[in-house]
Amino acid sequence: MNFPTKYSEIIARIESIDPIKYGETRNYLEGAVTYLSPYISRGVISTKMVLDKILAKGYQLEEIESFVKELAWRDYFQRLAQVRNLEQDIKFPQVDVAHHEIPLAVINAQTGIQAVDDAIEQLYAHGYMHNHLRMYTAALVTNIAKSHWLLPSKWMYYYLLDADFASNRCSWQWVCGANSNKKYVANQENVNRFAGTQQHGTFLDKPYEYLPPTKIPQELLETVEIRLETQLPDAEKIQIDATLPTFLYNFYNVDPNWHFGEAGNRILLLDPAFFKEHPVHTTVIQFVLELAKNVSNIQLFVGSFQELKETYTLNSIYFKEHPLNIGYSGIEESRDWISPEITGYFPSFFAYWKSLKKELMKIYQTYDH
Ligand SMILES: Cc1cc2nc3c(=O)[nH]c(=O)nc-3n(C[C@H](O)[C@H](O)[C@H](O)COP(=O)(O)OP(=O)(O)OC[C@H]3O[C@@H](n4cnc5c(N)ncnc54)[C@H](O)[C@@H]3O)c2cc1C
Repeated sequence: MNFPTKYSEIIARIESIDPIKYGETRNYLEGAVTYLSPYISRGVISTKMVLDKILAKGYQLEEIESFVKELAWRDYFQRLAQVRNLEQDIKFPQVDVAHHEIPLAVINAQTGIQAVDDAIEQLYAHGYMHNHLRMYTAALVTNIAKSHWLLPSKWMYYYLLDADFASNRCSWQWVCGANSNKKYVANQENVNRFAGTQQHGTFLDKPYEYLPPTKIPQELLETVEIRLETQLPDAEKIQIDATLPTFLYNFYNVDPNWHFGEAGNRILLLDPAFFKEHPVHTTVIQFVLELAKNVSNIQLFVGSFQELKETYTLNSIYFKEHPLNIGYSGIEESRDWISPEITGYFPSFFAYWKSLKKELMKIYQTYDH
């Protein structure tokens, strides 16, 4: 598992997607998943761009529906983040919460569920975890060990190269029943089937009527409160041409095509206050800095938007909309969406998908088939 940062290699990764095989195998650890989320989350590429490149290959919409649906899940969660406070339970209060900490065995990758422990080790080593393993881990933490979802979701976000506020918070809440009608649990048989393990006799090795258990398994009883902090690089002095517009990049926008070819000051803003609220590991910061090398003449500013404005004379500041932008002012531009028309609150993904499908048909018809 590797995550190259050169733009040409990222595009090559999109080109290599097999959306049909994806639909058949995505739930398996060894399935044909795309490993694109770190690039989508960092705003290097978009769901729309991925969809366009796939449709241009002449696939029928029905045969790639499973793949397109996943891209749509992503846009759906982003829309939700625009209209809801995702740090609070979205639909229902999480029930059966024993504490607001995280099991020590999870932090140490020693839960005793081999697939989950391996996935946590991989998360630490590579900044990535397969979707099904994210679900197993979140279910183990919230529904088996009965942790409140917020701190554990921050723990996972911290290590992910694809750390994404909306997908992360919505998914953790979906697993623990705060953003869905029931708690998600998987038993050992299910884990073995999709992760390729052959474990028996674990606390998950039970028929579903006994899951989640009423008592927290011994292995998960010890809990800890963790502190997550981001180490940012030192601030550098930057050069500004006050006659030119300024294009502002950040943790959620490292798009090399944005205003490509236009003269301007290009600044990657890493705001300590932002990372205090949403900490990530140094490897994630390093990943962003590497991705930023695809944007020519970009300069790094470590500080707040306000400090940037007070320190330099900046004209016409352009930035991309994101719910986590702190105190930005200037010319706000939209992110790229599969359908920019479908906005606002949808009570379920199904409702969102129904509306999106009509738009998808229109998009699909613009391609030769
Ligand atoms: C507990 C939990 C936490 C998560 N936290 C994050 C997070 O911080 N950042 C993040 O990007 N994703 C998160 N996800 C969603 C999903 O797991 C990842 O987007 C996916 O695993 C990324 O790998 P991939 O690019 O190989 O996905 P693929 O399976 O190849 O999917 C292609 C693209 O579709 C989108 N997608 C796929 N599955 C989902 C999904 N379940 N929800 C939303 N979009 C999806 C992603 O943009 C992904 O890049 C989380 C899921 C769970 C269950």
